Amino acid sequence: MPRLLKISLLSIVLLSGGWGFFAHQKVNRLSVFILPPPMIGFYKKNINYLSEASVNPDRRRYAVADEAARHYIDLDDYGDSAVYKLPRYWNEALKKIGNDSLQAHGVVPWHIAKMYDQLKDAFLLRDPRKILRISAELGHYIADANVPLHTTSNYDGQKTGQTGIHALWESRLPELFFTDYDFFVGKAEYVKNIQIAAWQAIANANAAADSVLRFEKELSEKMGNKKFGFETKGKQTVKLVSGDYAKVYHQMLSGMVERQFRASVKMVGNVWYSAWVDAGQPDLKELINYNPSEEELLKRAEELKAWKERIYLSRQHELNDNP
Ligand SMILES: [Zn+2]
Repeated sequence: MPRLLKISLLSIVLLSGGWGFFAHQKVNRLSVFILPPPMIGFYKKNINYLSEASVNPDRRRYAVADEAARHYIDLDDYGDSAVYKLPRYWNEALKKIGNDSLQAHGVVPWHIAKMYDQLKDAFLLRDPRKILRISAELGHYIADANVPLHTTSNYDGQKTGQTGIHALWESRLPELFFTDYDFFVGKAEYVKNIQIAAWQAIANANAAADSVLRFEKELSEKMGNKKFGFETKGKQTVKLVSGDYAKVYHQMLSGMVERQFRASVKMVGNVWYSAWVDAGQPDLKELINYNPSEEELLKRAEELKAWKERIYLSRQHELNDNP
């Protein structure tokens, strides 16, 4: 294969994804350790799966039609202060904006709340496989929501001549500087309203997006062709942002990557924990090495459905009785 083609193919690989695979795996892994004692045994036992499956949403990004939109929200497409003005809840957003438009601009904050409900159901069903699959994937979307470039339509600097900044910020920087980060984020805490917490995370990430782009612009103007270097990985030569460039950029961001990484770890732990609390704190020790049959799970799913319908009906009655 000609060298240039090889290089461009590799850059395509490097450009794909949310946080890089490395970062997503670390976020899920570290989140396990902030869980309370009744949860940590089950999650630790399955930590390799949680880490490995954290990148599944990116793997199916181009294969599943609705997948891509779950990883981001292009706030600037909605005008000024969109993060504070957009409908907080999905049904409200559907009514006001419509599904096509929502899908076109990204749905990550609403998708986090939707998956939280699914995780709560998985705990209610005491279905270990479902709990793990949803926990792992929820960890992915939460981490994406904490990446500044996942909140803007200029997500790869393509509108400002900074193509490649996405992979630089979320793959190259964490891979280079991860060992310097402090991951003590305290214990997982209960969050009453996951949907509002998701919007808060998006607002924080979005507030940093300007600096992400501006600092890189300044630096690239200053460093010119010293920006790139070649590195040998196995038999291949890869064109990469040079180590010096990455280092100065990382310094200019003054701890931002670490801050967003820590915020991701904390929030993933918080959301797993809150779903478990809201499902009535089922005994997870019982789920270690537990392999329920399809029939058992189906029966429980039916029970859960009937139970939800009863609650819905009794609410309707209350509303009718007290208009
Ligand atoms: Zn992603």
